[in-house]
Amino acid sequence: MNNNASCRFCGGALAEFVDLGMSPLCESYVAKEQLNSMEPFYPLAAHVCRDCVLVQLQEYVGPENIFSEYAYFSSYSDAWLDHARRYVEAITERLGLGPASRIIELGSNDGYLLQYFVERGVPVLGIDPAANAARAAEQRGVPTLVKFFGIETARELAEGGIQADLVLGNNVLAQVTNLNSFVEGIGVILKPDGVCTIEFPHLLETIAGNQFDQIYHEHFSYFTALTAEKIFAAHDMRIFDVEELWTHGGSLRIYACHAGDATHPTEGSVSRLMRREREAGLHQLETYADFAERVRATKRKLLSFLIEAKSRGKSLAGYGAPGKGNTLLNYCGIRTDFLDYTVDRNPYKQGKYLPGTHIPIFPPEKIAQTKPDYVLILPWNLKDEITAQLAYIRDWDAKFVVPIPEVSVI
Ligand SMILES: [Zn+2]
Repeated sequence: MNNNASCRFCGGALAEFVDLGMSPLCESYVAKEQLNSMEPFYPLAAHVCRDCVLVQLQEYVGPENIFSEYAYFSSYSDAWLDHARRYVEAITERLGLGPASRIIELGSNDGYLLQYFVERGVPVLGIDPAANAARAAEQRGVPTLVKFFGIETARELAEGGIQADLVLGNNVLAQVTNLNSFVEGIGVILKPDGVCTIEFPHLLETIAGNQFDQIYHEHFSYFTALTAEKIFAAHDMRIFDVEELWTHGGSLRIYACHAGDATHPTEGSVSRLMRREREAGLHQLETYADFAERVRATKRKLLSFLIEAKSRGKSLAGYGAPGKGNTLLNYCGIRTDFLDYTVDRNPYKQGKYLPGTHIPIFPPEKIAQTKPDYVLILPWNLKDEITAQLAYIRDWDAKFVVPIPEVSVI
C-alpha cells in the first residue's frame, strides 16, 4: 500500500482491513473481440482509518473511468423496483410531498426510482455521471443532469434557485471519492427544513455475514451509522432517524437534516442502532482485524464444494452477473473450469464475458436448455426472488448454491 495514503474523511492513518488480491473493475464486462487483449487489474485491498474507523479503498481507479458508461441498470431487478416504489409511497406520505415539492436524486441511474415521483406529479431532478443511464432516464420522463455531484454542482444548482425538499441517494455515497465535497454539497441543495435520505450497505452486516464481495473498486467507502454520523456532523447536518433494510444483504437508510432544524427531532432509533454497533465493537480498531481470516475461510469452503462437485462429474452454471459476483469469482479463482457460464436478464451484459474470469454471459433461458446440476446464485442477496423465478430447475433435480456467508446448497 501507498504509505502516504490517508483517510478520505478525516486524513487519519490507515490500517489493513482485508486484501482481496488483484481484480479487474467489476463492471467492465468484456466483449468477444476483447478476449485476446490485456485486461487491467488493480489491487483490491480495503483499509480502516485508525482515527475514525471509516473502512475505505484507496482511489486505485478514478471515478471518471468507472461511472461514465455504467452497465448496472437498476430496472432489471423486480425486487429493486419494488423497493423503490415502496420507498416513494412511504416518504411521500411522511414528508407530505406534492406538486409544490422538489426531489433531487444523486446517482439516479436509469430513473428507476424517480419515475414513481413523476407518476405522482412531483417535480424531480436526477443527477448521474453515466450518460447511457441518463438517456434511459430521460426516456422515462426523468430530467437528468449528467454530472458528478459535489460542492461545485451543488452551488451552481443553489445559485440557480434549485433546492430540494428531499435529497436522496441510494448506494451512491459508497461510490464517492471526495466524500467531504459530496456531503457538504447535500447541505447546500437542501432547503432549510429539507430531508436527505441515504442508503448504503451496512458494514455491520458486511462483517457479520462475511460479505466480502460487497468490496469492489466502485465502492470507495463502507459505512456504519457511527461513521455516517461523524461525516454528516462535520458538515452541519444531523441524522435524525435510521431504518435497517434487507437490500444488498443488509443496508441502512439514514434520514438527515440541517443540524439546527427543529422540525425533525432525533428519533430513538439512532441511539439504539449506534449502541448495537458499539456492542459489536465497530467503534474499535481491533474488531476490524479478524475479518480477513474469516474471508479466507469462506473462500476455502466454497472451493472445497466446487472441487468435490466437479470431481463427481457435476455441471454448474451461474445466475446473475452482478458486480459482487466478480469480486467473489476473481478472489476465489473460479473460471470456466468450475462454472460453465452465467446468465443475466440485462441485455447489455448478454453476449459479453465476466471481467477477469471470462465466464460467458447468456440470457436466462440457457439454464433450461443445458439443465446444469447446480446453479450458483451470485446476487445471493436476491436469492428468494431468484429461487422462485428458477423453481423449474427442480424438474431435473438441480439445486441452488449460495456462496455467502458460507457455501450452502438449497
Ligand atoms: Zn478517518
